[in-house]
Amino acid sequence: MSGNTVPPVANPPAELPPVPLGRAPLFERIVTLTVIVVPLLGLVAAPFFLWGWGFSWTDMGLLIGMYLLTALGVTVGFHRLFTHRSFETHTWVKFAFAVMGSMAVQGSLLRWVALHRRHHQHSDTPDDPHTPHHSGGGVRGVLRGAWHAHFGWFFDGTPPGLDDYVKDLAKSRALRVADALWPLWILLGLLLPGLIGGLVEGSWRGVWTGLIWGGLVRVLLVHHVTWSVNSACHLWGWRPYRSEDESRNNVIFGILALGEGWHNAHHAFPTSARHGLRWWQIDVSYYLIRAMSWVGLAWNVRLPSDAAMEKAARDRVESEGTGPK
Ligand SMILES: [Zn+2]
Ligand SMILES: [Zn+2]
Repeated sequence: MSGNTVPPVANPPAELPPVPLGRAPLFERIVTLTVIVVPLLGLVAAPFFLWGWGFSWTDMGLLIGMYLLTALGVTVGFHRLFTHRSFETHTWVKFAFAVMGSMAVQGSLLRWVALHRRHHQHSDTPDDPHTPHHSGGGVRGVLRGAWHAHFGWFFDGTPPGLDDYVKDLAKSRALRVADALWPLWILLGLLLPGLIGGLVEGSWRGVWTGLIWGGLVRVLLVHHVTWSVNSACHLWGWRPYRSEDESRNNVIFGILALGEGWHNAHHAFPTSARHGLRWWQIDVSYYLIRAMSWVGLAWNVRLPSDAAMEKAARDRVESEGTGPK
């Protein structure tokens, strides 16, 4: 790891044309929120129908435990530690977070970080890999934008020059190894809950339901919740701070995505280890980083100053008018 190399997110190219963006129409925001939330509610209801034969306390523990383990791997590891370097830690802790994040099946570490740094560099312009904007107008454009931001963008070609975004991380042998072995970590993330389920329940049924709930269903939930930060949090919510994009603070995904839904605050202060900047904005990822700092597992934890936050709030009012948006 090079200590002070400035990642490319800090240097957007000057030739990039400014793209004027207004707030997405109400209809567009309703469609996006509905297509994300309704299927999730269906899944939340499923265990009640399966209780006793397809879902047990063991399965619930595996689902919640594996959700927290792998989602924190993405939010604290892939995002706040590796992409934005919002704190520093030991190499073995970095390796552990690289493994946990890889289990979420969102691509290998270096690719994930490169794409996310590109998102910050070009946020909500046509070069943003997953903006819900710029997909045309009308109902078709609305649906296409929501689909594209949520997961349609995975089917796009790889943007050029991704390696240039992660030169700092690629210097670490441990991180190169963790990156190369990512299919192994995915397999581990599926087999582990199956193994624990089988041992706790003492049956093959425990193996299968553990693999399904702690493995497959957990992957689906973490996918949709983290992808919603890309789609819903660039459409729905309010903007307390000035940022050069359409990012928004969204209370639902602030909680479900373990703090990542305070997304306007994140775009205003990308290197901050804390995204929920107000005391009432629940930010589980930051609570973990703070707990790690108490026991010597995290240091150089970066936070914006009060003056910087007040200035960003003032700038937002000056550029976008008074009142909460
Ligand atoms: Zn964003
Ligand atoms: Zn970010």
